[in-house]
Amino acid sequence: MAGKVPPEPFRIKMVEPVHVPGAEDREKALKAGHFNMFGLRAADVYIDLLTDSGTGAMSKQQWAAIMMGDEAYAGADSFYSLKKSVKDVLGFDYTIPVHQGRAAENVVFGSLVKEGDVIPFNMPFDTTRGHVFNVGASSVDCVIDEAFDRENLHPFKGNVDLKKLEKTIARYGKDRIPFIMVTITNNSGGGQPVSLQNLRDVSAAAKKHAIPLLLDAARMAENAWFIKHREKEFADLSVGEILKETMNTADAITVSCKKDPLVNIGGLIACRTEEMYYKLTPRVILFEGFATYGGLAGRDLEALAVGLREMVNEEHLTHRIAQVRYLGELLSEGGVPCIHPIGGHAVFIDAGAFLPHIPQGSYPADVLSVEIYREGAIRGIGLGALAFENVDEKTGERTFPKLELYRLAINRRTYTNSHMEYVAETILDVYKRRESINYGLKVTYEPPVKGLKHFLAHLEPVKL
Ligand SMILES: *Cc1c(COP(=O)(O)O)cnc(C)c1O
Repeated sequence: MAGKVPPEPFRIKMVEPVHVPGAEDREKALKAGHFNMFGLRAADVYIDLLTDSGTGAMSKQQWAAIMMGDEAYAGADSFYSLKKSVKDVLGFDYTIPVHQGRAAENVVFGSLVKEGDVIPFNMPFDTTRGHVFNVGASSVDCVIDEAFDRENLHPFKGNVDLKKLEKTIARYGKDRIPFIMVTITNNSGGGQPVSLQNLRDVSAAAKKHAIPLLLDAARMAENAWFIKHREKEFADLSVGEILKETMNTADAITVSCKKDPLVNIGGLIACRTEEMYYKLTPRVILFEGFATYGGLAGRDLEALAVGLREMVNEEHLTHRIAQVRYLGELLSEGGVPCIHPIGGHAVFIDAGAFLPHIPQGSYPADVLSVEIYREGAIRGIGLGALAFENVDEKTGERTFPKLELYRLAINRRTYTNSHMEYVAETILDVYKRRESINYGLKVTYEPPVKGLKHFLAHLEPVKL
């Protein structure tokens, strides 16, 4: 039996009606959207688990803070509210707001990385990888091997393998490595956390080589919750204290504030030194706006200042992480192959094992997306070959990622536990008929920019 989930630690003050479109309408929607989940209209979706990015519900305190927005172009009070939250919650002296996580990546990679550079990661998120490519650099995955073993119950499958990291540094040399970056939690590897000890070890290795350590910290509060509950030494610290310790390992962070910080739009960069701050600000002005608003309205900065403080609330985190696990357990008990342990923000289904008869080159994770939408108007997303395959420019040879995953990302404070039960029942119905799913997908349009195929591709079913 799936474990008990704590009831929602909030009540509903404003409702947003949603409904299940009929079977015929779902077929029409799939065709109109070129069988790509990004192509669907949200109105045609009942439970939308495409992403947990910017899709959560704000608190009444955040809505109240919106009224306090100071819309001054430079030096607005709202910037100082944000700066104070960042200092209080994360401990960094320098804060640069940006409009979302990839904007932070654009600023950081565009300012600190040059062509031919190499960035060691545990694993980069897809937009992060896109930004690595965009500046002519490349990334090296240094995540521990356990990350690729679906059933391995390692408590911190997002950890960096120190040996792989040292090897990478030895191979490319410090001059080609502008920084090391660790994604917490490791989204591309199943939302798996990174331990505080591991971050301290990576930080020590980085210091030894005089290479800065950056964190992609979109899910830093969830990561801190996992540390509290899985890393014995830190069990007595609050999530807030653990988060501060986590931040102490890093020279700078990029954050998509549409994730843990509980806003619908926003991102930030935080760093420790004036030197780095001044390296980053020109590109903020070129692409985002003046360095004290970074493409956001003053009211957005206020909502974010409050969200940063709310994200470490332990009742919120405990419910959220238990809700994600509840969905994962309902699916696992029905036999659906999921990545274990269940991650912080999402349930990842091993689509390769769900549909083993579909070759990876025919995009089984995306076939699964189509079938789950078809069954019950639920939108998740494939994160497999379509998103991560490498196609050799000269030979056209395709190399596939090790993991072929389908992700159900759970929005914060948005869906109830009973919505999770509907999702599980729907997917179990697909699982029962999985052997009769006998088609693959082919790409009929792809964008000319590397790394973005899954967002924009047009797909078409093809018989196997
Ligand atoms: C979402 C995300 C990003 C990109 O942030 P956006 O706000 O979507 O631009 C980067 N890294 C990680 C780990 C993310 O989850």
